[in-house]
Amino acid sequence: MPEATSTYRPTNGNGEPHMTSLIITDASIHGRPGRHDVVIEQGLVACIEPTGTTPRTEGTARPDAAPATVIEARGGLLARAFVEPHLHPDKSFSLSELPAAEASGLNHFARASRIKAAFTPEQVARRARRAFELAVSNGVTRLRANIDIDSIAGLRGFEGVLQAREEVASILDVDLVAFPQEGLGRDPGAYDLLREALRSGANLIGGWPNVEEGEDAQRAHVATVFDLAEEFDVDIDIHADCWIEERERMLEVIAEETMTRGLHGRVMASHCCGIECYHDNARYVADKVAEADVRVAVIPLNLVDGILRGLSRPHMLRQAGAQVIVGSDNLNDGWYALGTLNPLDRIYMAVVGGGFADDEVDAVWHMVAGGAAHALDNRSRADTAVESASDVHIGMVADLVLLGAHDRLEALRRPGGPVTTIKGGRVVARRTVEERIMDVDAFGAALGGGAAARPARGVIPR
Ligand SMILES: [Zn+2]
Repeated sequence: MPEATSTYRPTNGNGEPHMTSLIITDASIHGRPGRHDVVIEQGLVACIEPTGTTPRTEGTARPDAAPATVIEARGGLLARAFVEPHLHPDKSFSLSELPAAEASGLNHFARASRIKAAFTPEQVARRARRAFELAVSNGVTRLRANIDIDSIAGLRGFEGVLQAREEVASILDVDLVAFPQEGLGRDPGAYDLLREALRSGANLIGGWPNVEEGEDAQRAHVATVFDLAEEFDVDIDIHADCWIEERERMLEVIAEETMTRGLHGRVMASHCCGIECYHDNARYVADKVAEADVRVAVIPLNLVDGILRGLSRPHMLRQAGAQVIVGSDNLNDGWYALGTLNPLDRIYMAVVGGGFADDEVDAVWHMVAGGAAHALDNRSRADTAVESASDVHIGMVADLVLLGAHDRLEALRRPGGPVTTIKGGRVVARRTVEERIMDVDAFGAALGGGAAARPARGVIPR
């Protein structure tokens, strides 16, 4: 599958060089039958033609023509690049920083707090960069980062992630959410630090009202987050109702506050697991979320982490008209030891955990790619991108991913397959996979069977 590359010098019809920078040949594209060649010029998808019909000028171009990189997709699926709408890169890969003896007996919250007390900007930058590069290697070109801003971490985590963002700026777009993980009422020192972060490069304000003690304090937390959003003219990305518990009831409050302030389309609520167990008014809350155009990021990879967390009734929210997308959350940190940062895993888990039918896989794929991008960026209500429409189209920014599978279902069956990530028309990451099918007779011989052991029968390049 995606493997071979070469360069040649393309020209336009007059024999003059044009600005072609990348050509992908023989690609499968969801929504377009057959194989296609895709030409990318100046960072945009400029041309999509059935394979074999794209004019090739190899050998005839003027010597001053700009060389283009050619990727032979060999039937691989060329798709819109993935979006990671919810990650905590300040904490990513930090679990090993807490000795097991110290971690023993601590809950997740306490573990994470203990780890971040020792944050240094340099150490955070190193781990965050590792997480960013992992995301890019998995086909992600856009990521939203929540960063703890509180009296424990100060601004050290923020400074570290800022540095890491700068280091990966050419391969990954990163939004920064100033996140008061420890609360605002519980941690009064967080407020001034949040303001400092918003003045220093954070482009969203976060929150987690449920961490406060009692409903009045939780509502006050929501109000303060919205006040800061209005003062700094930034959008909101707020954690809400992280567990399946009846008392987790902030999603409705957030929707009401959004409508009261006229901030429709500017608020993302993540997790929102509480709605799973509302027996009385789940649909009522879903309707309010849709009316306020609060976007909801569900987190399927945190479905269970010692306690059941649920998946936020994505069907009901979608039926109500809300935009639902899928994020990752934690990655090998005090909150969660696992995590892969692989969008294919996110899709798979969302399908399974959300109870989607197999003919809804395209809808869930959309929640991790084009729909996620729309939810992050577009304040207009309608997500007009239809899941069944051609995934790659002329004129779009060439943030693309080439997978070693012919279609989406095959890709989901092989989340560890080859990946080429393209950002702005430039290849920014490539993962190749060599697959060896061992000779079954050799296994038989090793187990005492009659056939003599032979070398591996073949190597399939992927
Ligand atoms: Zn989170």
